[in-house]
Amino acid sequence: MRTFAKSSKLDNVCYDIRGPVMDAANEMIANGEKILKLNIGNPAPFGFRTPDTVLTAMKDNLINAEGYSDSRGIEEAREAIIKYHTSKGIEGIGMNDIYTGNGVSELIVMVMQGLLNNGDEVLVPAPDYPLWTAAVTLSGGNAVHYICDERSDWNPDINDIRAKVTSKTKAIVLINPNNPTGAVYSEDVLQEIVKVARENELLIFSDEIYDRLTMDGVKHTSIASLCPDLFCITFNGLSKSHMVAGYRCGWMVLSGDKSKVKGYIEGLNMLSSMRLCSNVQAQYIIKTALEHLDSADDMLKPGGRIWEQREYIWRAMNSIDGLSAVKPKAAFYIFPRIDAAKFGITNDEQFVLDLLHDKKILLVAGGGFHWEQPDHFRIVYLPELSVLKESCEKMAEFLKTYMQA
Ligand code: PLP
Repeated sequence: MRTFAKSSKLDNVCYDIRGPVMDAANEMIANGEKILKLNIGNPAPFGFRTPDTVLTAMKDNLINAEGYSDSRGIEEAREAIIKYHTSKGIEGIGMNDIYTGNGVSELIVMVMQGLLNNGDEVLVPAPDYPLWTAAVTLSGGNAVHYICDERSDWNPDINDIRAKVTSKTKAIVLINPNNPTGAVYSEDVLQEIVKVARENELLIFSDEIYDRLTMDGVKHTSIASLCPDLFCITFNGLSKSHMVAGYRCGWMVLSGDKSKVKGYIEGLNMLSSMRLCSNVQAQYIIKTALEHLDSADDMLKPGGRIWEQREYIWRAMNSIDGLSAVKPKAAFYIFPRIDAAKFGITNDEQFVLDLLHDKKILLVAGGGFHWEQPDHFRIVYLPELSVLKESCEKMAEFLKTYMQA
């Protein structure tokens, strides 16, 4: 009898959403156990609400959204996207440069499928949002991870990027603001990356889905605004800033010199047409959402939920013996360091599993984000303060006696 296994290209991808830790958590939940879930960046279940104006825009347009749209998206959405990214300094964007997607996720896979042949290399940050590595792998490419340096506020290490460029490198991926570190890259660092891309003729993919969720007055710069001479694809969407992760609403913007990427764009058009179009109901909220850019602002300043929860978790992580963390500047993630030597940790997934079994707290190990050393984990600090406090108290108690090896 024939049996069918999954593609071997799936063997090592996406440990944030699958693997032994998730299996154990799901089993515990099925057995009725209550888990403190600090593992997933989905605002709605934690009481973050979609602005009413956005809901109304969707409701009022249901009748208009019955058919397929242009595969790149409806005009009013693309016009609003052009306006938004032009306001961030990206020049010369036209209607054919925008592609809406069923979330940024779909487009991440699409851009890699359209670009890569077997063995091509793409520079991807470590730590990364793991879908980027998965998309490269699934498209037959090799993700080559460059280090983001904790000692320099998790900014990319330019020397490491330079050292990892080869004749096979086609592109560099930036996740800015970053998941899982919460870093926002300075303009100087972005200029350095531009230099490397320019010297080595690399395409730039910049995932900026958290650009409207910065704190403490930190300004976000789109790398594409710094290099109108280079071909860039900038990714953004409403899942996080407008708390509509379930609506599946994202887009990408092509900018810069297209003279050398005509064939690639042809491929993107084919792939975009092959999935017919993105969710049309969700496209109808884009204009309204981008007219209400301040909808999350109150949460991001002192007294606001995300700001206060960031303050709490950052202090808590730095007050527990054996843990330390850089203060996130954006989004709702923190990537603390755990003193692996002190706790004898050689396997970060085992550490997360032990914490889950003992204290019913669910985190994601650093390895899930392609961080090689077993000395980090990610916390999503969206759950209410009371949940964060309970989790931190239990984590402190757990670490008083924990020894892995
Ligand atoms: N990019 C980053 C950096 C993310 O953290 C996420 C989701 O967590 C996504 C993309 C996916 O976004 P979407 O909901 O638009 O597919």
